[in-house]
Amino acid sequence: MRTKAIFDHQKTILVAGGAGFVGSHLCDALIGQGHSVICLDSFITGRTENILPLENHPRFETVEHDICAPIHIDRPLDEIYNLACPASPPHYQADPIHTMMTSVAGTGQLLRLAERHGARFLQASTSEVYGDPEEHPQRESYWGHVNCTGPRACYDEGKRAAEALCFDKLRAGHVDVRVARIFNTYGPRMRADDGRIVSNLIVQALGGAPLTIYGDGTQTRSFCYVSDLVDGLIALMNVLPNPQMPVNLGNPGEFTVAGLAEMVIAMVPTTSRIVHEPLPVDDPRRRRPDIARAKAVLGWEPRVPLAEGLSRTVAWFAQSLEENAPAKVA
Ligand code: NAD
Repeated sequence: MRTKAIFDHQKTILVAGGAGFVGSHLCDALIGQGHSVICLDSFITGRTENILPLENHPRFETVEHDICAPIHIDRPLDEIYNLACPASPPHYQADPIHTMMTSVAGTGQLLRLAERHGARFLQASTSEVYGDPEEHPQRESYWGHVNCTGPRACYDEGKRAAEALCFDKLRAGHVDVRVARIFNTYGPRMRADDGRIVSNLIVQALGGAPLTIYGDGTQTRSFCYVSDLVDGLIALMNVLPNPQMPVNLGNPGEFTVAGLAEMVIAMVPTTSRIVHEPLPVDDPRRRRPDIARAKAVLGWEPRVPLAEGLSRTVAWFAQSLEENAPAKVA
């Protein structure tokens, strides 16, 4: 029978990549559940402002470190979440070799740390392991369609190799590993400059700039609000017994990119028009998670509808752009 761990004791949890978009929301949630959190981050794409609300919290600590180097933590750890990896194409392609090393060598270092501490381990993998999928929607059983020599390979193949490492460690009985395959996630604290579709469109609309759609806009994506994803990650870390298989976490609602742009335009009073640019190399045509496994194993499914999540995200970007706007000279 499936049982779930109960948050009956305070755990010490390391969140690698904890200063990033998803990681910082995960740190908030774990602190909220009464745990002690060590946020380990190189700040390559993460930002101190994301973890500012936790800065002086007695159960929160930040360690600046690149996971490619050996990691030593001098107190017992119960759990490790590995979210450390740049996630948007302009960032992961800026130094593709480091991205690949982060996924492979970095995940290896964190797995070694987990083994030494007897800590449970969750790997943040990605729907990109499915590449440009020939199966739709994507189930975990699909092996993927990835170009191993293209400009996205540093990320896609890095994450695939990291999954292989995780399952080897699990089969060897060294570490209790769980693997989440995360689909497009959005929400407050996304970077305005990270080139992801949701943040791009919102920032362009708020700035009155033309909204860029790559290709004809008929390509589809699914969008998961960040709080839903964080709930799924925590559920996967805590579920017993270990599913011993990757679990898709994403929102199965499927929208065209053109449809998303229209939703943004309806939410932001703007005169912006839509401009089309060529599709990036190896850009997937369709993306939608099959979340049957997450429902069955975790009892998890997303709860925040796209319209609601988008409107919260628009409000956050509007405030953050206003706060960071250069002061007007009188
Ligand atoms: P992000 O770039 O905001 O966060 C990644 C964090 O990892 C940053 O704080 C960055 O500084 C840190 N980092 C990167 N390389 C590191 C290294 N070598 N050592 C230490 N820290 C390092 O990205 P995100 O959107 O929050 O994504 C978090 C994780 O979730 C990533 O592993 C990503 O692959 C995965 N993921 C995210 C999405 C999404 O839609 N956001 C989708 C699929 C998978």
